[in-house]
Amino acid sequence: MPGFEIFGAEERKQVNDVLESGVLMRYGFDGMRNNHWKALEFETAFAKRMDAKYCQLVSSGTAALTVALASAGIGAGDEVIMPTFTFVASFESILALGAVPILVDIDDTLTVDPKAVEAAITPKTKCVMPVHMCGSMADLRALKAICKEHNLILLEDACQAIGGTYEGKALGSYGDLGCFSFDYVKTITCGEGGAVLTNNKKYALHADHYQDHGHDHIGNDRGAESHPFLGYNFRISELNAAVGLAQLDKLDGILKIQKENYTILRNALETVQGVTFRKVPEGGEENYSFLSFYLPTEELTQKAHKALIEAGVDACFYWYTNNWHYINGWEHLRNLKSLGNLPAEVKNQMQDLNNTDFSKSDAIMSRTISSLIKIGWKEKQVHERAEALKKAIASVL
Ligand SMILES: *Cc1c(COP(=O)(O)O)cnc(C)c1O
Repeated sequence: MPGFEIFGAEERKQVNDVLESGVLMRYGFDGMRNNHWKALEFETAFAKRMDAKYCQLVSSGTAALTVALASAGIGAGDEVIMPTFTFVASFESILALGAVPILVDIDDTLTVDPKAVEAAITPKTKCVMPVHMCGSMADLRALKAICKEHNLILLEDACQAIGGTYEGKALGSYGDLGCFSFDYVKTITCGEGGAVLTNNKKYALHADHYQDHGHDHIGNDRGAESHPFLGYNFRISELNAAVGLAQLDKLDGILKIQKENYTILRNALETVQGVTFRKVPEGGEENYSFLSFYLPTEELTQKAHKALIEAGVDACFYWYTNNWHYINGWEHLRNLKSLGNLPAEVKNQMQDLNNTDFSKSDAIMSRTISSLIKIGWKEKQVHERAEALKKAIASVL
């Protein structure tokens, strides 16, 4: 998945445009900037590529989630439903606004189970946040129907699934809002950065103001602008945006190579009895940044993961015991360990995560292994990897 594998002359050229003028900020300094507006250009190009009306660039994927939630009016005490398998950014962004993360089980798509979402809805629920983990998507049709029925906001976290589609639409453009990350290990990177997509004019305007201290961006004197509501600073710098512009041009090439490499690995693993694959909802096409598969039991999966390490097959993840991507590793969240006092709403409304039954998620995650798909592998290397993967997994079954 990593765009860092192909950092090259195109990125350097874009960054140089910015360095030559010295205007590192995305707003203002019109006379000095040689007409370079990298953040604006990236936003326009990204919205076009994703076929969405509006794009707001920000400083990270976590910032994108925070800005998206804030733009939709989510605040203290509002409940946001999210999966047990995701990156910590999901609950960090929710908690940052004083809102309450409500964790629910995943299913064999490795994303939120729509039935678990429905069961978790209360009068305080405001938003459902599916996370398209490891390149593939949640059952967005089912989630959209639930959100419509209960008048909830559908916010897609597409940070790991850029370029994937569902019913012909780009992931991140299907819900009310969609979020992306361009951090250093994502499919395309700009060092640190993120984006919010939406077709909703009001949310777009909110995002524009909120990520820049509430600036209304009217006129051309920043100091004289007004601030219709409170904001924060989640701005991206021109330098980061410049790198992103070059990487965006490479996205389709990256997706093509990912699919080729994924297919070679998948075809090899399909021949191994006992291996099954992550379900992709009907109408969806993943972005092929990971190949995720299941083994019959937790014990066999742990053995297989060990065998992969011993065989030198790198970049295979066993998320179940990982500190960052599954609830088992989130001791700080389960015990609400924060530096300062948390809002009363959070303390009162949070589930007792140490005693909530997530056995359905456990049954899936304990049997899941994901292989990262790199784009720098030579064809011979991919075939060697396929053989080694097959051999290591078969050795424990
Ligand atoms: C990377 C990631 C984020 C956060 O992105 P940053 O740019 O690192 O802040 C959020 N959600 C998911 C699923 C991610 O993988």
